[in-house]
Amino acid sequence: IIRESYQQQQAADVHLNDKTVVIVGGNGALGQLFVRLFSSAGAKVLILDKDDWQHAEHFCEQADLVLISVPIAHTLTVIEALPSLPPGCILADLTSVKRQPLNAMLAKHSGPVVGLHPMFGPKQVTLAKQLVVACHGRDEDQYQWLLASIERWGAHIKALTAAAHDQAMAFVQVLRHLSSFVYGSHLAAEQADLQQLLDLSSPIYRLELMMVGRLFAQDAELYADILLAEPNNIAMLRRYVQRFEMELKRLEQGCKDEFLQEFTRVREYFGEFAERFLSDSQRLLDTAGDSHQI
Ligand code: NAD
Repeated sequence: IIRESYQQQQAADVHLNDKTVVIVGGNGALGQLFVRLFSSAGAKVLILDKDDWQHAEHFCEQADLVLISVPIAHTLTVIEALPSLPPGCILADLTSVKRQPLNAMLAKHSGPVVGLHPMFGPKQVTLAKQLVVACHGRDEDQYQWLLASIERWGAHIKALTAAAHDQAMAFVQVLRHLSSFVYGSHLAAEQADLQQLLDLSSPIYRLELMMVGRLFAQDAELYADILLAEPNNIAMLRRYVQRFEMELKRLEQGCKDEFLQEFTRVREYFGEFAERFLSDSQRLLDTAGDSHQI
């Protein structure tokens, strides 16, 4: 609690009274969060949403920062459609994929450019303890004030190349979203009784069911776009399905020994993470159980 109030104090210390920030897609879920953050820091915030393009030129000519927060599928065309920006203006985006938007921003603007990926959803009230990935584009010294503000709002910043970000997201987001989606779609097709599954699940399996179910409380278009953004991901997902199929074939043929061998191989791959994940998840469940959250 002390740490959070300290962070709130720091957040209140962000003063951007001399900055004008244009948020493209500022009426959207994540855009609104950043409109709120910049406004409460005293910045002049101008929202450029889809029906506001007649103001684009006027907004951008006074901007210190133009921040793109539109649906993934529209990001590249929106970047290309921007009017030219003042030389010292930062061009940045919040897109969940990084390589293509970063390249498009670098091609559009010759001043400071940085790609950001907030690793949290729009329901987040504050940025305290959240993570933002930053992919360097150009003129790092000129966008320091932006990164410093995000840090003072409480978030950690992790610098990563756009390629490394997208590669990691193939597993952090893409693989997870597809397997949750198929898991949910399978439960629906089998007409599984969700209440009964909940009642009969221990806390860790309830958590797993929640991980699947919460996907369907969120934006379908965002998930579709994340799954479709990188053609390379489709090839990786195809390999996943082939492995699934291979394991199933082993089971159909009753090959217990092969299953056990594969289990040992994967256990070796996880190494000390396996034990760590077991004890960390137990601790998490104990804490949640104490506060009756699960
Ligand atoms: P959203 O659909 O809620 O909002 C997008 C906004 O962009 C809307 O207000 C829409 O009207 C506007 N828009 C659409 N076309 C436009 C155009 N041509 N010009 C100007 N505005 C236009 O989407 P969101 O969830 O806020 O996502 C925005 C971005 O943030 C995406 O790139 C997404 O990958 C990224 N992101 C989202 C989340 C999340 O959990 N929602 C998390 C991290 C990153």
